[in-house]
Amino acid sequence: MPFAEQRIHQALDVGEFVPYFQPLVDLRVGSIHGFEILARWIHPDHGLIPPNKFIPLVERYGMINRLSASLLTQAFASARTLPKNFGLSINLSPSQLHDRTLPSLIHRMADEAEFDLKHLTVELTETALVDDLDLAGAVAADFKRLGIRLALDDFGTGYSSLLHLQSLPFDELKVDISFVRSMVESRQSRKITAAVISLGLSLGLQTVAEGVEEQSQANLLAWRGCTFGQGFLYGRPIPAAELLASLSQGHPGVCATTEVPASIGDPFLSLDAHPTER
Ligand code: C2E
Ligand code: CA
Ligand code: CA
Repeated sequence: MPFAEQRIHQALDVGEFVPYFQPLVDLRVGSIHGFEILARWIHPDHGLIPPNKFIPLVERYGMINRLSASLLTQAFASARTLPKNFGLSINLSPSQLHDRTLPSLIHRMADEAEFDLKHLTVELTETALVDDLDLAGAVAADFKRLGIRLALDDFGTGYSSLLHLQSLPFDELKVDISFVRSMVESRQSRKITAAVISLGLSLGLQTVAEGVEEQSQANLLAWRGCTFGQGFLYGRPIPAAELLASLSQGHPGVCATTEVPASIGDPFLSLDAHPTER
């Protein structure tokens, strides 16, 4: 589906790009803590188009800030119907971390919508940081001055992750879906996931596991100390019109996190235990 530059302009002008919202859930109790904004294109002929089909084009045509601004304006408006302490997270493209005008643009939009920026998290992937870490650091510092939180997305898939964790003032670490997907079957993934969560905890960061589809994954993650989960177990991305109704849906929590998940067995005999625990 190749779209011409003019068609993307038109889609922005007439408001065909909309935010969908996926809940982030406190793993222990199952309550919704906030929502990640995920871009969708409601195309009159092609229906709902996912972001990987249009974000690269929007970037190439230099319209990514317009798209983010449009999504945030709509999301801030929807947030008015939510309880005040709910968080919103927005994904930014790598090039946007090299644009020093973006923090003030977001500041203005939040002011107009009366959205408190301490409830906004900006999600960055490591590719955003590779090209020019100094400039990315300056933009990140501008975000922090406004009270905006920073999350390192898809953690574990990029390169020099640890360098980036050290260089920028992150508040949150998102464990990539690929580790979560295989953790129930693979001891190796469980070990990596546990190490990533421990790293996050020891750096004082909140940890979010992506792609949680089964209760067994949620149990293992909570047992390892992960705070939040996101995935089809708790809800698929939904349009703004369904946000309020989604708040009244209950989600499964993990009743006793100190209890060892059945899949692990005795933690002190298990190979999943830390060497010191064994
Ligand atoms: P992401 O930030 O890693 O977002 C998570 C993706 O995983 C979303 O795909 C979500 O629908 C999907 N997902 C969530 N839970 C599950 C699950 O339990 N199982 C599986 N299999 N998938 C799950 P989506 O919405 O297609 O977004 C894909 C990517 O597009 C995002 O990955 C993000 O990198 C990018 N993206 C989305 N919106 C924006 C945006 O506004 N700006 C930029 N720059 N990128 C965006
Ligand atoms: Ca994300
Ligand atoms: Ca991710």
